[in-house]
Amino acid sequence: MGHIFVTFGKWLGRTGPPLSSVPVRIAVIGAGVVGLATAAELLVRGHDVGCYESGAPMAARSVGDTRIFRLAHQRPELVEWAARARERWSAWGERAGRPLVGDEGTVVSGDIDAWAAAMSAAGAPFEVTDAPPALPAAAAGGPFLRDPTGGVVRAADTGRFLLDVVGPALIGETVEELRPVGGVVEVASATRTATFDAVVVAAGTGTPALAAQVGVAVPDALVHHTRFTFALRDPGAVPPAWIDRSGSWRPGFGSYGHLVGPGRWAIGAHSDQLDESWESGREAVELRSRELVTAYVAEHVTGALPEVVETVYCASPPGLGDGVRAAVAGAVVVVWGDNLFKFAPVLGPALADAALDREVPAQLRAAAPG
Ligand SMILES: Cc1cc2nc3c(=O)[nH]c(=O)nc-3n(C[C@H](O)[C@H](O)[C@H](O)COP(=O)(O)OP(=O)(O)OC[C@H]3O[C@@H](n4cnc5c(N)ncnc54)[C@H](O)[C@@H]3O)c2cc1C
Repeated sequence: MGHIFVTFGKWLGRTGPPLSSVPVRIAVIGAGVVGLATAAELLVRGHDVGCYESGAPMAARSVGDTRIFRLAHQRPELVEWAARARERWSAWGERAGRPLVGDEGTVVSGDIDAWAAAMSAAGAPFEVTDAPPALPAAAAGGPFLRDPTGGVVRAADTGRFLLDVVGPALIGETVEELRPVGGVVEVASATRTATFDAVVVAAGTGTPALAAQVGVAVPDALVHHTRFTFALRDPGAVPPAWIDRSGSWRPGFGSYGHLVGPGRWAIGAHSDQLDESWESGREAVELRSRELVTAYVAEHVTGALPEVVETVYCASPPGLGDGVRAAVAGAVVVVWGDNLFKFAPVLGPALADAALDREVPAQLRAAAPG
C-alpha cells in the first residue's frame, strides 16, 4: 500500500506521498495550544501521534488563564478565518462541557478604519460608535468598533480539554534534530531516535532552530512581554475585551485588556515608549512594563485599582502581528506567528491537512499576512 502511494505521489510530482487516507505516524513538536490542537486533530482522525514537549505543556507562550478572541482583524480573510474558528470554539466548548470563549464581546478603539473595512468585506457583525462602551476607562478615546462575537478565551481550560485527548501521546523530551531520510523524518531527542511519516513543528521559541534544519527560515528575534492583572473597582463589572489603539492616553501607546476572572482585569502594553528588547533582560523589561502599565491604569483605566495582582510573562516574537505563517519542506510542516491562540481550533485541522497532504492548505495560505 505504502509503495502505491509513493509511486502515485511521484507521478503527481509531489515531494512525498499523500498520507491522508492511511493511518500514519506523525510527530508534533510542542505542546502549546497550536501543537496540542494539531495533535488532537490527528488523533481524532486515527493517526499515530507522538507530541514532544521539552517543558510543561501550555507553559510557554500559551501560559495563563485567558486570551482575547475576536472576529475583528484588518483583513477580511482573517475575519473569515476567525469566524470559522469561533464555530469550532463552540464545538470544543460543547465537548469540554463548558464554553471556552465568553460572550463579553471585544472592542477596538481609535484607529479602526481598516478593521471596519475588513469586517464589512467579510460580512461580519459589528458596529462603530463614538459612545464609549462599558469599558473600565471613562475617558477612553474613540471611535469604537464593537465586535459582539468576540470575548475572553479560557486558555487554561482549553489546555486541560486538549490534554485530555493528547495526554497519552505526550513525549516529555526536547527534540534536538530533524533528519529527513528518503520521504520520512528521523526525530532525535535525548533518549531516542524515532521515525515518522510527517512532522509538525509548533515549538514557539524552539521553532526557528528546528525549521533551519530543514531549510525553512523563521525569524528568531524575541522580546520580553509581560501582561499585568489589576482588581476592578466594581467586582461585578463585565466589560468587553478591549484593544486600545487610540493613543488617547499617550501618543504611541496601545494596549489590550480583558477580564481574567470575576473582578480582575489584565492589561498588556505595546508602546513606542517601551523598550522590550531581549538584550535588556527580562527583569529590567518587566520593571519598565510594570511602571508604564501601572501609570496607564492610575491615569486612564480608572475603573481598576493601580496595583498589580498577577503577572504573565512570555518571550514573544516582535512585529508579526495577526496572521499565521506556515511552510512545508518535504515531510516537515512549520508554523509560526503571533496571536495564534484565537485560531487554535482551525489551525489544528489545517496543520493536520498540511502534514498529511504535504502542502500548505489554501485556508492557511489565506491566513498568512498580506
Ligand atoms: C501575555 C500574552 C497575551 C496574549 N494575548 C493573545 C490574545 O489575546 N489572543 C491570541 O490569539 N493570542 C494571544 N497571545 C499569543 C498566543 O498566546 C500565542 O500565539 C500562542 O499561545 C502560541 O502557541 P504555540 O503553541 O505556538 O506556542 P507555545 O505555547 O510557546 O508552545 C510551544 C511549545 O514547544 C515547546 N518546545 C520548544 N522547543 C521544543 C523542542 N525542541 N522540543 C520539544 N518541545 C519544544 C515549548 O516548551 C512550548 O511548550 C498572547 C500571548 C501572551 C504571552
